[in-house]
Amino acid sequence: MKQLQEKLEAIFQDFHRHPEISGKEFRTTEKIKAYLTEWGVSLISLPLPTGALAQIGFGNRPVAALRCDLDALPVQEETGLLYASEVPGCMHACGHDFHMTSVLGAALLLKERESRLKGTVRLIFQPSEEVNEGAVPVLRTGLLEDVSEYYGIHTDPEIEAGTLGIREGAVMACPDHFQIRIHGRGGHGAQPHLSVNPIPCAASVALALQQAVPGKISPFSPCVLSVCRIQAGDAWNVIPGQALLEGTLRTMSEKDRATGILTIREIAEHMAKAWGCTAETVFFSAPPPVVNNADLAAFAAETAQSLGIRVIQQEPSMIGEDFAEYLQEKPGCFIRVGTGIGPGLHHSKFRADPSVLSGTAEFLSELVFRRLEKMSGSQHGKES
Ligand SMILES: [Zn+2]
Ligand SMILES: [Zn+2]
Repeated sequence: MKQLQEKLEAIFQDFHRHPEISGKEFRTTEKIKAYLTEWGVSLISLPLPTGALAQIGFGNRPVAALRCDLDALPVQEETGLLYASEVPGCMHACGHDFHMTSVLGAALLLKERESRLKGTVRLIFQPSEEVNEGAVPVLRTGLLEDVSEYYGIHTDPEIEAGTLGIREGAVMACPDHFQIRIHGRGGHGAQPHLSVNPIPCAASVALALQQAVPGKISPFSPCVLSVCRIQAGDAWNVIPGQALLEGTLRTMSEKDRATGILTIREIAEHMAKAWGCTAETVFFSAPPPVVNNADLAAFAAETAQSLGIRVIQQEPSMIGEDFAEYLQEKPGCFIRVGTGIGPGLHHSKFRADPSVLSGTAEFLSELVFRRLEKMSGSQHGKES
């Protein structure tokens, strides 16, 4: 285990030093492929510019998938770590370097037990998670159609290192992004009666959204609405023709999401009309909420505990995660890995404690190993 830990720490530090932003994970992809090839793990050709697919086992069903993500963020690192990012303005501030390394570690451990696997483990090294553009293209390749269950992890700076956060049901939100363009009519700041100022309208829309959207959703169902950007005008004495509002709606179910979207559209349209403006509302595509299967979450918790890992009930998060797309296809479980309490995800001082890499790898390998045993047992049961 000590040897595995040392190996994984070296891999992790290398990934951390060389972060790459979404869609540009070229070096990362090459490194992953090189490690897997060196360890004799078979690669599956993935027809995408970045990302990788591999498998352990011989392609027989059942198939369980372990997914991790590869991309970093446009953040200037301020951790002061010896192995801090060598790329100015780019940092693994979401712990995806930790995820990749853990899945690589699991691959090493599973490879040692390949002949005893009761099925196949598919390894997904997914690009572009941060921009929600990674999971759907990987799924569209059709290379995952035989997968029965999906597992993924995320670092958690609110959980102590060595503890896992596991929960059934909705654990991460649908991260909708909306944009509202308010059209008025520009003019002289001294003559508002001859123009239609979109700024007070935009301010009213922002305030109304903050109150009305959560007000339409049950207080027992989490919902967040944040207007995060408001932009209009270029001069102190000119009424602009347009104003732009942008923000995010976070919900935990498709029903609340639909209610939220409808309310945002209606408020923008009606409020704009009241001010003599018009509004154009656009929603950009976003993944659904991450909803963990109850049986698989319980199985994951039992597996962790049997390995002596502490498990706590994971707090749901209003952050989004495109792992949700896989769960639209098949059941699975997304697990939070405590990597030491510290600055939050996406923070320039975020750090994931590498001392728990080998433990995480062992947990992941054991989880899918046991799931395959369980699934193949129940399949035989059905045949007989
Ligand atoms: Zn992130
Ligand atoms: Zn992330």
